[in-house]
Amino acid sequence: MIRVTELALPLDHPEAALKAALLQRLKLKNDELLDFTVFKRSYDARKKNTEIKFVYIIDLEVQDEAAVLARFADDNHVRPAPDTAYYPVAQAPAGLEQRPVVVGLGPCGLFAALLLAQMGFRPIVLERGKDVRRRTKDTWALWRKKQLSPESNVQFGEGGAGLFSDGKLYSQIKDPKFYGRKVMAEFVKAGAPEEILYVSKPHIGTFRLTGVVSKMREEIIRLGGEIRFEQKVTDLLLDSGQVKGVELASGEQLVSRHVVMALGHSARETFRMLHRRGVFLEAKPFAIGFRIEHPQSLIDHARLGKYAGHPALGAADYKLVYHASNGRAVYSFCMCPGGTVVAATSEPGRVVTNGMSQYSRNERNANSGIVVNIDPNKDFPGGPLAGVDLQEQLEANAYKLGGSDYCAPGQLVGDFIAGKPSDKLGEVVPSYKPGIRLGDLAPSLPPYAIDAIREALPAFGRQIRGFDRADAVLTGIETRTSSPVRITRDRDTLQSLNTRGLYPAGEGAGYAGGILSAGVDGIKVAEAVAKAMKAELDTA
Ligand code: FAD
Repeated sequence: MIRVTELALPLDHPEAALKAALLQRLKLKNDELLDFTVFKRSYDARKKNTEIKFVYIIDLEVQDEAAVLARFADDNHVRPAPDTAYYPVAQAPAGLEQRPVVVGLGPCGLFAALLLAQMGFRPIVLERGKDVRRRTKDTWALWRKKQLSPESNVQFGEGGAGLFSDGKLYSQIKDPKFYGRKVMAEFVKAGAPEEILYVSKPHIGTFRLTGVVSKMREEIIRLGGEIRFEQKVTDLLLDSGQVKGVELASGEQLVSRHVVMALGHSARETFRMLHRRGVFLEAKPFAIGFRIEHPQSLIDHARLGKYAGHPALGAADYKLVYHASNGRAVYSFCMCPGGTVVAATSEPGRVVTNGMSQYSRNERNANSGIVVNIDPNKDFPGGPLAGVDLQEQLEANAYKLGGSDYCAPGQLVGDFIAGKPSDKLGEVVPSYKPGIRLGDLAPSLPPYAIDAIREALPAFGRQIRGFDRADAVLTGIETRTSSPVRITRDRDTLQSLNTRGLYPAGEGAGYAGGILSAGVDGIKVAEAVAKAMKAELDTA
């Protein structure tokens, strides 16, 4: 297989133009090109007012591969294609009685369980929340009727935190073994659109993701796994530093020497339980800030120029970073083109925001988190759980500022920069449900964060014209950008530093940040569990 990179074609090119361009690029006759697939398609928007083009990476088979590679030996854009196939690391022996336990059915737990099931290890998955269908109902009850279900919401339940999201499926992790490809391939097998395999910034949107997750659950069960909803793990059974199993809220105990903890960043009680049990945890940096909303058309025009609204490009995104004079980095986080801001608390009496969108991304507003990095050493010293305490305190305060009924505190950008409370909206209509209460956001975050964001917004306005327009809306607050703790693990075995048989995984453990990287981490941890179980059997 040969890989050709940097093949540029106009946005509106007919399908057949791709083959023609390949033949021309490689100087091949029609019958010498046997087959080709698009590995990646991105677009180059630097010339947004003259010509935006698609840029392809293509994998192809030709009659005489050696001859083509020799002919293009000096051309860095014609190279042998890497092998991106996935190869399982182990196979469970038939009749194996021991079963691994996976706690949490977010993207990390889902992939850990799927891979273990594919390798024959028949995992038992314990998820505190409900299945997708019932969870969707509970989540909408908060948004529509201000009724929160603490065990079934945006953070907890089948699919994990990423279920009600934009479903962005890209990440900046290093992935030398192409595990990300395996994640995408499994999503496609379960019904995700095929294009996620090749577009450069794939996303799948909330409604499609819910269907995909249910299909993957069925596959895990078909392969001998077991999935139990509404089963919250409340304790860890230990014997001399080795995991023996877990205890559930019902009091039931489950025996297993291999427990994957794929908890997500909101499992605060479970972090506290692990700390009480002596599992090694440490505080880690995360970020706090607000959601900002603009008309999507403003972002499209700034990013795509005369191509704004082009159907092949869809709603435009952005990524912004600013280094403030007080030393803080301010950046856009989890940008959702054509989406909505959502209430994302899992605990009563707290307000926290996030963003989501549908596959079509055709809501009126663009939103993103505008957040500031904070660090345990200077911002929340006081032990492994000090970041959790800080999040709780900020979220409780935001709840009060919002009127103590799950509405969120909000302010217009112009007023925020000027330091005066807002009392009426401009043209931008905020999308947050159940609603926002306008006022002053300054008391909602520490002063260094407020100062840094105040300084960053006009700077962002110089990168995207109108970003700092006076009637853009800020909704508070964003605190769950990533986990405030790391459940540190050994590099080789992926087990907890001091608790054998415990595999901290995914975002809650501090090893992922986003759907794709959580899925990739699930695969890595499944492999570690499979190898450890095989090794135990081999030495028994
Ligand atoms: P989670 O998805 O948080 O899953 C953890 C699971 O563990 C939960 O289902 C929880 O109920 C369960 N659990 C916790 N404690 C226990 C216990 N004691 N017993 C049993 N079960 C337990 N990322 C992207 O890449 N793209 C996006 O577009 C995107 N949008 C987002 C939008 C929203 C609204 C939110 C909230 C997040 C979004 N994210 C997005 C982030 C992404 O969802 C997370 O990074 C990802 O879900 C982390 O996966 P995880 O499996 O590690 O943890």
